[in-house]
Amino acid sequence: MDRVRNFINGEWTGSATKEYGDIWCPATGEKIGEVPYSTADDVDKAVRAARDAFWEWRCTPPMTRARYFFKLKQLLEESFEDIARVLVREEGKTLDESRGEVRRMIENVEHATGVTTMMAGYNLEDIAQGIDCTAERQPVGVFGVIGPFNFPAMVPWWFLPYAVVSGNTFIVKPSEQVPMTQTRIFEAVEECGFPEGVVNMVHGSRDVVNAMLRHPGINGLSFVGQSTTARYIYRTCAETGKRVQALGGAKNHLIVMPDADLDKGLPSILTSFYGCAGERCLSGSVLVAVGDVYEKLKERFVAASRAIKVGDGLQEGVQMGPLVSGKHMEKVLGYIEKGVQEGAKLILDGRGVKVDGYPGGFYVGPTIFDAVDPSMTIASEEIFGPVVSIVRARDLDEALKLIDGSEYGNAACLYTTSGAAARQFKYRAGAAMLGINIGIAAPMAYFPFGGMKGSFYGDLKGHGREIFQFYTDTKVVIQRW
Ligand code: NAD
Repeated sequence: MDRVRNFINGEWTGSATKEYGDIWCPATGEKIGEVPYSTADDVDKAVRAARDAFWEWRCTPPMTRARYFFKLKQLLEESFEDIARVLVREEGKTLDESRGEVRRMIENVEHATGVTTMMAGYNLEDIAQGIDCTAERQPVGVFGVIGPFNFPAMVPWWFLPYAVVSGNTFIVKPSEQVPMTQTRIFEAVEECGFPEGVVNMVHGSRDVVNAMLRHPGINGLSFVGQSTTARYIYRTCAETGKRVQALGGAKNHLIVMPDADLDKGLPSILTSFYGCAGERCLSGSVLVAVGDVYEKLKERFVAASRAIKVGDGLQEGVQMGPLVSGKHMEKVLGYIEKGVQEGAKLILDGRGVKVDGYPGGFYVGPTIFDAVDPSMTIASEEIFGPVVSIVRARDLDEALKLIDGSEYGNAACLYTTSGAAARQFKYRAGAAMLGINIGIAAPMAYFPFGGMKGSFYGDLKGHGREIFQFYTDTKVVIQRW
């Protein structure tokens, strides 16, 4: 039985805690390990190590810092398959999905090596005669990330490479539900040989988060998780004077216009709703059928959903894995029950799906509600499972108002063959990640990532170009000689 350990000041170390959480294999429902619920003292050790390492690391030339990431990329490529398999085992997604996640994680390592261009400041001569002005970008100190369960490999790496390559030092707090993936990744971090204290990891639950939030030695935090937690993180960072970006939950609408090419669109519509068992902040959740596309869309979508093979993500041919935990499965089942109670029409029921040889796994099959009113709970709250609500709209305008009415604004998608409709959607949709004839507007390392409204609390989003602003401070120097 694995008991994961912290990585502090270049060493693997246990925690003094007496409290441990269980790590589950969602495919089998068996316990596969334990995670320490580390203490404020463990966090303090990590912060001290990171602070001690900061000055020397900050004075290391950016190109030299980037070279660590060139080396790390190679090490991650060598461990690629192993990381992907550890991820499937503890999170439940399919091996292909897991490989995709690890690939996107590595892309952030690659993109961060552009630090010598991305971090550069700017200057202007003669702001007054003989006087020159420079804006320098300098690293700030110690940053950290608090991760969610659904992308255990990738999410911390939306932040870590950029913070560290910019000259800051860093602490990762992985989700306690899936701590093994990041632990495997940190074996590569260790082999890479960063100076002691530059990159640290502390496992645990709320006590670790609260200790990070309150620690005066931490300058800023990135958070990804549910919106309720995101709001708490954002508020507390404001109180304690930390930089913060807090990415929250989602309720994404996928709009299908009457002129959509369903032959081309259907595969990515399906992946949007059922990829990663619906446990993606970019997953489709509400399928909006505009005008007379409704009948044929429903018929084809339901038939294709019924054919999806559910099972252990490590098995060949499986298209959808289990949910992450028994607790989360109960939550999703609760939403299905709620949909029935509220009067939506359950036209595909994924409850009680059986996977041969895996009686204890946390499986819920594709589930579809028809005749859903936008005011119903299943159409407005984040379910985070393979549960689809079909809602009808007269036209694009009405469909866009559904997005406006949502408290979230993470992603939205449109399927159409009309440039005018696509333009109107792009212009008006109240969500930050848009897909046009694309079911998942994926986070690309070299573009910013984060939502709007209740899906994002902060100013500067993840990765892209602006992340270098989040991790640096501007110093303006005016000189006359
Ligand atoms: P979560 O909010 O429950 O947990 C996220 C992290 O916060 C964990 O590390 C956990 O230990 C910590 N945490 C949880 N509750 C806390 C509390 N009360 N006090 C202090 N710390 C706390 O999120 P989750 O269930 O692990 O992840 C799923 C959620 O993440 C979904 O809502 C999903 O939409 C969202 N998500 C968003 C994005 C995005 O880019 N916007 C990406 C991935 C996931």
